[in-house]
Amino acid sequence: MTLPLTRRATLAGAAALPLATLTAGSVAAGSHGGSAALPNARSFRLGTMGVTTLLDASFPRDGFKDAFAKDVPAEEFNRITEENFISPDMVQFYFTPTLVDTGAELVLFDTGLGRGGITKALADAGVTPDAIDVVVITHMHPDHIGGLMTDDVPTFPNARYVAGRAEYDGWLSMGQNRVTDVIAGKVTPLAEKTTFIEDGATVAPGITAMAAFGHTPGHMTYRLESGGAQLVLTADVANHYVLSFGVMPKSW
Ligand SMILES: [Zn+2]
Repeated sequence: MTLPLTRRATLAGAAALPLATLTAGSVAAGSHGGSAALPNARSFRLGTMGVTTLLDASFPRDGFKDAFAKDVPAEEFNRITEENFISPDMVQFYFTPTLVDTGAELVLFDTGLGRGGITKALADAGVTPDAIDVVVITHMHPDHIGGLMTDDVPTFPNARYVAGRAEYDGWLSMGQNRVTDVIAGKVTPLAEKTTFIEDGATVAPGITAMAAFGHTPGHMTYRLESGGAQLVLTADVANHYVLSFGVMPKSW
């Protein structure tokens, strides 16, 4: 016998599930898309491109309001979190690099925390690290550049790299801090293989950089266009809203 669930119970249950569970069984797309049961990779098509979100890691953190809604009055914050069946205290973080198969190249946007999750998620999508042609960095927070190097060796041995000029220079101009320490270990060793770009640069056919400075000194978003369809990879631009309300993974 199946017990009827109220809408609240159903949604609350769904909200508590890890993304891996929610995305299992999603549709594979692209020539590198993998199988139908993908615990850490979720694919769809955008025109002729294959787009795959890769779950590098996910874990809960406390201090939800301070991190994402500091300026929102407590009463409003509590009302909205309750209406959306999410905890006002804990927030579930998702670290979700994105793979784009252009048909000619495999382009990886961001690399996760650097704890091995990205290569596991790629394996679930049927992709080995040496198959990545281009690694694009949206911005240089550690959870986006951590996977560039593994034990001081490039994780993606055959890739070329793309990152924002203003982002790299902006961080380096600040002097040493927690982030620049990570940049020194993860980005600088690859600087000679990196194309540092400006607003409007074409990364690959159908992939255009768009400056979205603010979250970091030179944060770049990327517009994908294929077959009349468009998508903007924003990375953390929208996360103060989107992540707060648990709508989508962090990368979107
Ligand atoms: Zn960030």
